[in-house]
Amino acid sequence: MLEKSQTILVIGAGPAGLYASGKLTEAGKNVILLNRDIKYGGLAEYGIFVSKHKMKEGIRKQFRKILANENLEYFGNVTVGKNSNVTLEELKNIGFSAYLITAGAQGTKNIGIEGEDAKGVIHAKDLVYHYNHLPPFSEREFEIGNKVAIIGVGNVMVDIAHWLVHYKKVKEVIAIARRGPNERAYTDKEIKAIAYNMDTELVRRELERIRENLESLGQNIEETFKNLIKECSEKYYEEDSPTKFYFKFLSSPKRILKDNNNKVIGLELEENILIEKDGKLVSKGTGKTYTIDLDNVIFAIGDNVDSSLGLSVNKWGEFIKNPNQYEDDPNRNLYELYDEENKKVLEGFFVAGWSRKASDGLVGIARKDGETAAKYILDYLKNKPIEEDNKLSKLLDLFTQKGVEYVTKKDIELLEKLEAEEAKKRNLEFYKFDYNKEMLDLIKSNR
Ligand SMILES: Cc1cc2nc3c(=O)[nH]c(=O)nc-3n(C[C@H](O)[C@H](O)[C@H](O)COP(=O)(O)OP(=O)(O)OC[C@H]3O[C@@H](n4cnc5c(N)ncnc54)[C@H](O)[C@@H]3O)c2cc1C
Repeated sequence: MLEKSQTILVIGAGPAGLYASGKLTEAGKNVILLNRDIKYGGLAEYGIFVSKHKMKEGIRKQFRKILANENLEYFGNVTVGKNSNVTLEELKNIGFSAYLITAGAQGTKNIGIEGEDAKGVIHAKDLVYHYNHLPPFSEREFEIGNKVAIIGVGNVMVDIAHWLVHYKKVKEVIAIARRGPNERAYTDKEIKAIAYNMDTELVRRELERIRENLESLGQNIEETFKNLIKECSEKYYEEDSPTKFYFKFLSSPKRILKDNNNKVIGLELEENILIEKDGKLVSKGTGKTYTIDLDNVIFAIGDNVDSSLGLSVNKWGEFIKNPNQYEDDPNRNLYELYDEENKKVLEGFFVAGWSRKASDGLVGIARKDGETAAKYILDYLKNKPIEEDNKLSKLLDLFTQKGVEYVTKKDIELLEKLEAEEAKKRNLEFYKFDYNKEMLDLIKSNR
């Protein structure tokens, strides 16, 4: 760390936090990066699909380069928040020059229907973290039955279906969409992983069910069908899976049906129609319902931020940003956090990535967002004093006082080496330890 420089505390070492840190250290600032998980990377490490090794390794290389900067300190296994390792208030008291919140969107979005608490209801992020080996989700049992519905038709739905079709090989996976087939949000590239398992007959029948509504909007059923099934003849894996994958369009969950043991047995859905409103196609409930028998309902509808972090959150589950636009820059206020109680900007507090806009886009978007926040932080710091830097020692004192068992970037280097050795031994492309304790013990005994 530089002796005389401003120090920025970054909370969350996913892509937004890491790329922002890269820009800040490049500009000669000190950065201290705190991260809930032992390993850095966030959803780039624990979200991107398990088999995308090349993509993940490419991103890891960039992260390693950023972390190698001498002006950057990394502390993993440190959760910030109420009832966590350290509170935001304690960190505020240390008096860093600026703070950047890049903790992603760790809150769960509930839609408020009956039965959401049933066993067998799963939220996408938890499952994604589980199969990507992120503790403590990797340690949790997820009971998956034969017939699974996924609510949502974006790329996260496809990733989960990918896992259900090729890794769990369940009998049926049904993707449920509030709107129609032409409003689907997944990409052709992603659907390839499961397209071979699409039951084209059931897809065709589903389109017939909603034909009238789609045609009234000028949509062509034949074209829609062709587009939906266009990747279906290509095998993605050599090994076959028996899973049938299909859709239910124009349907909104109304109630999760459960048995006496509070276990999911089905889902009641309301039929929708598509209508045009303000130039957009929106769904409107018809009041007519139907049910399907199921073993699991998985919500893949995006996430909220974590309200336990200690920042003001609005009713849409977002951290509250400065509502007052600057005349010379209409975006800057959207990166500044706001104290709703005292109706003023939280001075020196910035936000980026999925903490700023939950579940928004790919790593490239989070990178751009983090780097934009870094630019605003650097502007802000121009008029602030450069003091002797004693922030790191104050933070380490706080860790000692609170008994925080943190890991450093040197520890992660070691862990990565141990993982590589383990992968070699097991003849795997990549290996990850599933337990925090296992990782911490290994680090301690090899330090
Ligand atoms: C299922 C899934 C698949 C995806 N696949 C792809 C893909 O194939 N390609 C692609 O480009 N993008 C993909 N993405 C999107 C990409 O992962 C995100 O755009 C990106 O990771 C968001 O970055 P972030 O830094 O804002 O948040 P995150 O990646 O969520 O990082 C947040 C970080 O904050 C830390 N943190 C959280 N809470 C706290 C706390 N209280 N205290 C301290 N630290 C905390 C976490 O440990 C984590 O490291 C996928 C996303 C999902 C969900």
